[in-house]
Amino acid sequence: MIQINVAQIKRRLVGEKPLAFNLAPSELEINPSEMAVVGDIRMEGSISNTGDVLLLQAKLSCEVHRTCGRCLKEFTGTNEAEVVEKFYPAGTENIENDAFVYDSDVIDITEPLREGLLLAEPMQALCKPDCKGLCPVCGADLNEGDCGCDKVSIDPRLAALKQFIKN
Ligand SMILES: [Zn+2]
Ligand SMILES: [Zn+2]
Repeated sequence: MIQINVAQIKRRLVGEKPLAFNLAPSELEINPSEMAVVGDIRMEGSISNTGDVLLLQAKLSCEVHRTCGRCLKEFTGTNEAEVVEKFYPAGTENIENDAFVYDSDVIDITEPLREGLLLAEPMQALCKPDCKGLCPVCGADLNEGDCGCDKVSIDPRLAALKQFIKN
């Protein structure tokens, strides 16, 4: 849990507090089944007083243990996230139900950081942008060379295209 004391910046308009942390995944309540973070999460940013709200701006980065969605190889990639979130004083009217609110000199920034980082993680990670994946016939890793299987005839889209060219 990451709590920031904002007593100082609340007193001054345009007050700003720089933030720079190395965080363990557990401090952001990220468990390995959600995202397999390797080492610490780096975070840099600030909280500033914009008059009506406190504005959190943060850049996060960490290494993540991933499995390639095409060739199933395991690799380590970098997750980079940017978070911009407003915190409203308690009692503010006309704000969304899920808006972040504070009612003391301490604000808890765990949830926006956690969400930002999890959202930035790709649904399907690739070991490299042009990963060739596995052969649908024999399962060989096509990045390591062609296995020699006839892959064209089993791809219905390519088969249709072939037909089209013939006509
Ligand atoms: Zn791959
Ligand atoms: Zn093959």
